[in-house]
Amino acid sequence: MARAFLALGSNLGDRRAHLDDAVAGLAAHPDIRVIAMSSVYETDPVGGPVQDDFLNAVVEVATDLDPFGLLAVAQGLETAAQRVREVRWGPRTLDVDIVLYDELRLDDERLTIPHPRMRERHFVLAPLHELAPELVDRPSAGWSGVRRVVPTDGEQ
Ligand code: ATP
Ligand code: MG
Ligand code: MG
Repeated sequence: MARAFLALGSNLGDRRAHLDDAVAGLAAHPDIRVIAMSSVYETDPVGGPVQDDFLNAVVEVATDLDPFGLLAVAQGLETAAQRVREVRWGPRTLDVDIVLYDELRLDDERLTIPHPRMRERHFVLAPLHELAPELVDRPSAGWSGVRRVVPTDGEQ
């Protein structure tokens, strides 16, 4: 079994439902076990056009899938959320990226692991740090553009 971290993001439609549906989809997969989900963070968009704020989270999984199998599952979840690709880094119902897969380093045209832009993205690093503080140093100035969403009553 491999241990992997997936970064989820949504800034279109019911953002929270898109994240929750993605986690449920991962948990329902026979070859994936969800170990932990971070808090949800509301984050400033980075790198794309002017667009609405995101909700982001990181999910830790154990899986028997190889990295390409896991990517196929991630892309299936995006398709199930009716993701449409128009502009690069534009608004999306759901993005599911593989951040880390054990200690693997992979540089394939379809899949790069660790995710090539994770080190500069506080919207990935803050939730990853919450789940695995040994993997990420918290910057002395704190996380920028990232606000932890405090659960309301009845919500987890
Ligand atoms: P970014 O990769 O900068 O976060 P994005 O998530 O918006 O941008 P997508 O449109 O979701 O980009 O994916 C574009 C392609 O990236 C996918 O078709 C996939 O093959 C490739 N890709 C490469 N490495 C990864 C990875 N670690 N996780 C997910 N997709 C990846
Ligand atoms: Mg992405
Ligand atoms: Mg992606």
